[in-house]
Amino acid sequence: MPEIDDNDDCSGRINDPWSRAGNLWDEKIINGKIWCGSSGKHDTFDRNVVLPNGDTYLCCMDYGLKHKIGNLFETDFYSLDRSQIIRMANEESSDLICRKCTICKKQ
Ligand code: SF4
Repeated sequence: MPEIDDNDDCSGRINDPWSRAGNLWDEKIINGKIWCGSSGKHDTFDRNVVLPNGDTYLCCMDYGLKHKIGNLFETDFYSLDRSQIIRMANEESSDLICRKCTICKKQ
């Protein structure tokens, strides 16, 4: 995690920086069943990002475009297939980026 200078002019505006689910610097992996704390519901994973070509990914933290869940030119938002994400979240461990995310919660 980068050092923050408390005397910097930005210190009053910047709180704890996020690694963007381990994309900017590595994070400890959270094992066990998890869910996304930003959705307010345990298994929805519906805070997704859509690219101009319609490809839709798990989350704005997915800088590596690792978890594609569909394409909005081919299906509607509520029909996107999040089953693999939910399965990975319910495993003891998996390669889901959420396991390195500040917002991730353990079930
Ligand atoms: S990476 Fe973080 S914010 Fe994004 S879906 Fe996973 S837990 Fe939620």
